[in-house]
Amino acid sequence: DTIGADLAFTIERFGDREALVDVPSGRRWTYAEFGRAVEEVALGLLAKGVAKGDRVGLWAVNCPEWVMVQYAAARVGAIMVNINPAYRVHELGFVLRQAGIGVLVASVEHKTSDYRRMVEQVRAECPALRDVVYIDDPTWDGLLSLGEGVRPERLAEREAQLSCYDPVNIQYTSGTTGFPKGATLSHHSILNNGYFVGELLGYTEADRVALPVPFYHCFGMVMGNLAVTTHGSCIVVPAPSFDPVATLHAVERERCTSLYGVPTMFIAELNLPDFATYDLSSLRTGIMAGSPCPEEVMKRVMTEMHMSEVAICYGMTETSPVSTQTRADDEVERRTGTVGRVLPHLQVKIVDQDTGATLARGEAGELCTRGYSVMLGYWEEPERSAEAVDAEGWMHTGDLAVMDEDGYVRIVGRIKDMIIRGGENVYPREIEEFLYSHPKISDVQVIGVPDEKYGEEVMACVVLRDPAATLSRDELARFCRGRLAHYKIPRHLWILESFPMTVSGKVRKVELRERATTSLL
Ligand code: ATP
Ligand code: MG
Repeated sequence: DTIGADLAFTIERFGDREALVDVPSGRRWTYAEFGRAVEEVALGLLAKGVAKGDRVGLWAVNCPEWVMVQYAAARVGAIMVNINPAYRVHELGFVLRQAGIGVLVASVEHKTSDYRRMVEQVRAECPALRDVVYIDDPTWDGLLSLGEGVRPERLAEREAQLSCYDPVNIQYTSGTTGFPKGATLSHHSILNNGYFVGELLGYTEADRVALPVPFYHCFGMVMGNLAVTTHGSCIVVPAPSFDPVATLHAVERERCTSLYGVPTMFIAELNLPDFATYDLSSLRTGIMAGSPCPEEVMKRVMTEMHMSEVAICYGMTETSPVSTQTRADDEVERRTGTVGRVLPHLQVKIVDQDTGATLARGEAGELCTRGYSVMLGYWEEPERSAEAVDAEGWMHTGDLAVMDEDGYVRIVGRIKDMIIRGGENVYPREIEEFLYSHPKISDVQVIGVPDEKYGEEVMACVVLRDPAATLSRDELARFCRGRLAHYKIPRHLWILESFPMTVSGKVRKVELRERATTSLL
């Protein structure tokens, strides 16, 4: 189905149930009300002359209008381009031009970002951009009143021309390993992916899902919004951008049953000084995903946050995103130590990076995904698309993984992050996992830095639990001795207050490596 047709189906079944709650403003919508709000925006987009296949940009922090535009753009057959709210002028200009965006919907401002000013700065260099609508601004009301002049039949006519295989979205990757790439995805791909993620979490109309993850990213808009609306559950928006206090407050106040986050978000919540004062007893499930999920953190989330059914998902923007997920009835070790098994109707294989041959169970190689979830391609980049998706339809993820006899997958690391020390492959992930058990360490990233003798050496970048405490390299080495092979023991230690992050909450290891390398020289 198309996203619009699926939403209509949910409205029919659950019209009087709550669809969306914005905690900061206290505004809330039932499915019937949400459906009307989406329709108003869709009619406004038609009035603005948005044709099928036109690119509509959305550059905003989390807010209810974000969700409305997501569904409205899908209903008019536009291709919505999610733009990272952390972007600055230069990156905005790049995306506006690369995707040929005609209409842009944007936040006015948030924290240090003055979105309106940045848009005005690039506007002259983006000839395709003909209209900008700001949320919480007279131009937003203008969009809605323009829509009042459009007959609803025109929307129905447009929808009759759409196919579920049409592109609906260009989603940019997080930019963890370089400049973000725009993955073009169809209704079919992301709607099904969201649906299955929600199915495996056991979502029903009784679920209330707190989404502190950014909507601009697939974690928010697919695993969040689409998983929720395909099941008649409710989207709860805790704040415009991630804030651990606002998140726990939203869970408590809205009696949320499910909570999402990347590992660093859960760590921030668990480490709040007044963590114990929040009533989180309504929580049942949720998702941890996006980067390696430390077992320690998973276990704390399961017990201290009452999320006994919490799942780990693994995937990437290019595959809608989820490829594997843990299930609530998996054994506990597998629920904390693996990324679960492949989703229904998808395929996963582990191949030798060099020969492309499928490896035996238990051997580490590159994970490849095939099926409905694989992107149509990178937007207007046929060469890079062909590099990523092979002729047989397999997406080569660039992630190293192992699959066991029963199909459970463990992510060993990213090929690009692997450290080669004196010819020996060292997987940062394994060392990080071990160092999380150090009592003084709150968060840790392991990277490879240049070394004259070994080519690369292991460096541990560490955030301490108590910022006033100290930790020496020798102390750390003593902790590792006898428990880690000698070549995996970090030769360098770097203590930081926090890591450089992407908006989707991932540590930018490239930046850590660059900064570490320069400081060593
Ligand atoms: P870019 O492709 O721009 O460098 P990115 O790969 O981080 O950035 P995303 O598509 O947001 O952009 O993230 C997908 C990647 O995140 C995966 O390829 C994988 O490396 C990592 N990842 C996602 N989920 C997990 C998980 N559960 N465990 C380990 N790694 C994960
Ligand atoms: Mg990637």
